[in-house]
Amino acid sequence: MLYFINVILPIPVENTFTYRVSETEYAFIQLGMRVAVPFGKSKVYASIVKAKHTEAPTIYEAKEIHQILDEHPIVTQKQLKFWSWISSYYMCTEGEVMRAALPKAFMLESETVIKLKSDGFVIDELELKDDEYLIYEALQSKSELKVQEVMEILDTKKILPSIQYLIDQGAVEMQEEIYEKYIPKLVKFITLSSDYEGEHTFNKLLEDLSRAPKQREMVLSFFSLKAKTNKPISSKELQKVSGATTVQLNALIKKGVFQIYEKQQDRVGYEGEVYITKTLNNHQELAYNEIKTQFEVKDVVLLHGVTASGKTEIYVQIIEELLAQKKGQILYLLPEIALTTQLISRLQIYFGEKVAIFHSKYSVNERVEVWNNVLKKYDKAQVIIGARSALLLPFQDLQFIVVDEEHESSFKQYDPAPRYQARDSAIVLAAMFKAKVLLGSATPSLESIYNVQTNKYGCVQLKHRHGNILLPDINLVDIKEKMKKREMTGHFSDTLLRAITDALELGEQVILFQNRRGFSPILECTTCGHAPQCPNCDVSLTYHKYRAQLRCHYCGYNIALQKKCLACGSSELTTKGFGTEQIEAELKELYPDRVISRMDSDTTRGKYGFEKLITAFEQEQIDILVGTQMLTKGLDFRNVSLVGIMNADSMLNFPDFRAHERSYQLIAQVSGRAGRTEKQGKVLVQTYNPYHQILQQVSANKFDEMIKEQLEERHTFKYPPFYRLIRVSLKHRDYQKIEEASIWLAKALKQTLGSEAVLGPETPSIARIRNQYRRNVMIKINRTQNLSQTKKAVKRVVTSFNAISQYRSVRLIIDVDCY
Ligand code: ADP
Ligand code: ZN
Ligand code: ZN
Repeated sequence: MLYFINVILPIPVENTFTYRVSETEYAFIQLGMRVAVPFGKSKVYASIVKAKHTEAPTIYEAKEIHQILDEHPIVTQKQLKFWSWISSYYMCTEGEVMRAALPKAFMLESETVIKLKSDGFVIDELELKDDEYLIYEALQSKSELKVQEVMEILDTKKILPSIQYLIDQGAVEMQEEIYEKYIPKLVKFITLSSDYEGEHTFNKLLEDLSRAPKQREMVLSFFSLKAKTNKPISSKELQKVSGATTVQLNALIKKGVFQIYEKQQDRVGYEGEVYITKTLNNHQELAYNEIKTQFEVKDVVLLHGVTASGKTEIYVQIIEELLAQKKGQILYLLPEIALTTQLISRLQIYFGEKVAIFHSKYSVNERVEVWNNVLKKYDKAQVIIGARSALLLPFQDLQFIVVDEEHESSFKQYDPAPRYQARDSAIVLAAMFKAKVLLGSATPSLESIYNVQTNKYGCVQLKHRHGNILLPDINLVDIKEKMKKREMTGHFSDTLLRAITDALELGEQVILFQNRRGFSPILECTTCGHAPQCPNCDVSLTYHKYRAQLRCHYCGYNIALQKKCLACGSSELTTKGFGTEQIEAELKELYPDRVISRMDSDTTRGKYGFEKLITAFEQEQIDILVGTQMLTKGLDFRNVSLVGIMNADSMLNFPDFRAHERSYQLIAQVSGRAGRTEKQGKVLVQTYNPYHQILQQVSANKFDEMIKEQLEERHTFKYPPFYRLIRVSLKHRDYQKIEEASIWLAKALKQTLGSEAVLGPETPSIARIRNQYRRNVMIKINRTQNLSQTKKAVKRVVTSFNAISQYRSVRLIIDVDCY
C-alpha cells in the first residue's frame, strides 16, 4: 500500500498538496505536524499536515517528503478547522492563513536568512552533528546565510532539522528586527547637586536665588520633601508641592542646582494604588450579573458602557471568576496592542503570572514561547492578551473571549491576506469551542447593534461613569463665525484658547486632537498655484516643518523643503490645511512656559516612543498633548479636564459609507478622555458646520438616535449590516491596462451576479499609490442571498480573469466585509 499526506504550504496556492511518505512515517505523522517538503524546482518549505490517506493524486505524481520536523503537532485540529473557515469566508488560501498564524520560526523556507545569534552564544562544537557543525562553521566566516545556500553547502535538501536544532540551542537566529519585550516606565527624579550639600553653600544658594522667588521656593520645597521621606523625589511631586512650572524647574537644572535622572519604575507601584481587583460599584454589579444571566441564553453579549464606566473592571471580574474555576483559556483581544500599554499593565497587575501577551513586535523566540505555552495549556498562558493575530494561537480549551473596543476598525486586517475581521472571526472560533464572547465598547459598531436588535447578541448597558462623574460636556465652536468676527488665533478659536488657559491655571491637563500629522498637507505657490505632488502617488506632499521636508504619507517619498516654487520660481508659498505639527508649533508660541508634546506616528516611532509619552503625560510632566487618533485608544488619564478637537470637518467629509459612524465614535472616544476621575470634563469641537447631524448628536450624547438614522441610511443605500460587501481591487502600473481590465471584470461580474449587485469599476479617492493605478469593483450581497454561492461565482469570474493573458499581470485583491 502507498501512503500519502496532504499539506498546507505557506504560499498562496489554492489547494493542499499531496506527498508520499513511508509506512513508518505514516504511522508517526499526526495532523498538525510540520513536514519539510520540496516544491517546484528547488524550493523547500515547512508545511503543515492537514490529512493522511492512501489515495494517490491523479493529476500529478506525488513527491516524497524531505523530513518530519516535529514530534508532536504544533497546530491543533481546531486550528485547522478555523484556518479552513477563514480561507473560505475571506476568500484567501489556507497557506495565507498559515503564514499569518505561525511564528516565523516555524516557517523555515528557502528564502529565510539565518545568522549567528548576536549575544555571542558559544556552542560546544563537539556536541554537534556533522550537518549542524557545517552550518555553524559556515556562519563563522559568512555573517548570514539563506536556507537555499545552506542546502548548497550541505549538498542536501534535508537541512531544516539541523537549522532548527541550532535555533533551539540558541546558537543561531533568524534575521529579523528584534524589539525588546519589557517596556519600562521611566520616571524623572530630582536630586540637589552635590555642590550645595553643605550648610554654608546651601545658604549662599538661597541668597543667590533671592531674586527668583519661585525658584527659591522650589529649592526649599525640595528640602522639606527630603526631610519627610527617604524616597527619591520625582519632578512631578516637586512641582506639585512647590507649584512651580517646568520652565522654572528647567532653569534650576540649567544652573546646575538640581540634577535630573531617569529611573525605571515598576508599573506595579504606580500612584501607590493597591492592585487587588476593585469592588464593583452598583451599576457595574448590576451589569455584571446581567451579563452572566444573558450568557445562559446567548453566546455573544455586547457590553455597551459609556467611557470611564469601568468596563475593564467588569471584564476583570469575569475573568477572575473564570480563572478560579480553572475551566479553560481566556482570550482578551485589543485593537492595537502597541497603543494599549496602559491597559496591558493593568491586566498584568491583576493577573500577574497567568497572563501571556502576544505581540507582533516581540521577537520570534518570544512568539514561539507564547505559542507553545498556549498549545501546552501552561499556567502562564491562562489569559492571553493580544491584537487580532492572537486569535490564531493554538488554543486547547478556549472558554471566554473579550473583544475590547469592538467598534475599532483595526480589528480588520487590511493587508496582506487573510483579510479577516478579528471580532467576527472570534465569534466563529468561540463557537467551535462552545465559548462565550463579550464585546465591549462605549460606541459599539452598527453591525453589533444590529445583531443586538435582531436578537443574535445579548446586550447590557452601563450608563454611568464610575463615581457618577458626569459625561463630558461637549460644545461645538463655529469657526466660520469666529473667522468672520476675527476671533481666531491661528487655528484656535478664542473659546478654545480661554478653556485651555483656564484648565492649565487649575493645574489640569489638556488633550488636543487633530486627525492629521505633519505641519500642513499642502504647500501651495500663491503665484502660480502649483503644489508639489508625489511622483509615485496621486497625492500632494505633506509639509513637515520640523524636518524641513515634504513627504508622501503613502509611499514615504520625501524631498527637502524648497524655498521657491518648483514651477515658477516664486518664493511666495503658503500652506493649506494643518496637521499636528502646526498645532504644536502654534501652542508653543501661545504657551511658551508650558510643556507641549505631540503624539503621532512621527513622534512615537522610536523605541518606547509611545510608552515614554504616555508615562510622561500620566506623570503630569506634559501640560498639553496634541495628537492623532492614537489618543483615542482607551487611555485613562486622571488629570485631563479639557479635550479640544481642532477640526471635525475632514473626518465627516471622508468619502466612505462609514465616515459618519466613525466620526461619532472618534469624537465620543476622544471626548471620553476628559474628566475621568473627579469633575466633569469639557470638550470643544471646532467645526465649520456645527449643524451637521452627527455633531449635533455626539454633543447631545444621542447615540441611539445616531444609530437609528445611520441604520436607515445603510438600509436605503444597501450597505452593511443589511448587505455584505466584497471589494475586488485591481492594481497595475499601466493606466490603459487597468482601465480595460477593470471594465472587463465589472462586466463579467454583472453578468454573473446581476447588474444590481455590482458597482463600478470606480476609482478610489487616491487613484495611484506607489506607481500602481487602482480601481475597485464593489459587490453587494443581500443578507438573504446565499453567500457561499455568490463567493463561488466571484471565484469563477476571477479564474476566467486570470486566464486572460494580457491581464495576468494585473493584481486582484479580494476583500470580504471590506472596511
Ligand atoms: P472604561 O473601560 O469603561 O473606559 P475603565 O475601566 O478604564 O473604564 O475605568 C475608568 C476609571 O475608573 C479607571 O481609572 C478605573 O480604575 C476606575 N474604576 C472603574 N471602576 C472602578 C471601581 N469599581 N472601583 C474603583 N475604581 C474604578
Ligand atoms: Zn509657482
Ligand atoms: Zn507617494
